[in-house]
Amino acid sequence: MGGREATLVLLDENGIRCDGRKVDEPRRIMIKAGGLKNADGSAYIEFGDNKILVGVFGPRDVHPKHMSNTDTGILRVRYHMEPFSVTERKNPAPSRREIEISKVIKEALEPAVMLEKFPRTAVDVFIEVLQADGGTRCAALSAASVALADAGIPMRDMVAACAAGKAADTIILDVNNEEDQAGQADMPIGYMPSLEKITLLQLDGVLTPEEYKKCVETGIKGCKIVYELQRKALTDKYFGNGEK
Ligand code: UDP
Repeated sequence: MGGREATLVLLDENGIRCDGRKVDEPRRIMIKAGGLKNADGSAYIEFGDNKILVGVFGPRDVHPKHMSNTDTGILRVRYHMEPFSVTERKNPAPSRREIEISKVIKEALEPAVMLEKFPRTAVDVFIEVLQADGGTRCAALSAASVALADAGIPMRDMVAACAAGKAADTIILDVNNEEDQAGQADMPIGYMPSLEKITLLQLDGVLTPEEYKKCVETGIKGCKIVYELQRKALTDKYFGNGEK
């Protein structure tokens, strides 16, 4: 990040990015609902080279008890990166970054989950990043929504997430790791497509007001693509091949 000169060509003269994509093309996305028999709900996502597994437990009793709320259920999210998920071994202890990402994913899911139906209980979301390649918070948030739905937790909408950004002075969809490192801006977005509400928006980098607007619009287009794949993952699991 920061617009440093890089030997890497982020965008060539034909408008093709460093991994062969067009500016408005997301990476390959695969989402699977279920998979963990000991969790109440689960999901697995591959988003480009990101590979993330999510397990959901609850609604269940809250321990420690003083954390419970008599008016509503609570959502707890733990985002964790495996030491082997990145090229340079990551210390398994929770980092500041993992604490921040856990918090933003929790806050991005809360508007979607009907926690008020389960007072005094907790819904726990465990996110394990098995392989990371830029954009893990969006991929994890998208998979967590599917895992919550798979657990049968009532939701107002799914939260679909995708980042947009800026590299080589161009607004791009779905920022990969190289573009995150050498590009000019990264904007992860979480979006509830049916309700048309944004639940996560972060920005690392500097954009003009016009670029900001275009970035949000581009990110939302990505979220809508993710949303279709989330729905497909759930219909594939619950209605066979999903054509229902
Ligand atoms: N990353 C890494 N080591 C770390 C943390 C992150 O190599 O300890 C890489 C990883 O590929 C991650 C990327 O840096 O996806 C970008 O991280 P960022 O904090 O921007 O979050 P993300 O884009 O994954 O949501």
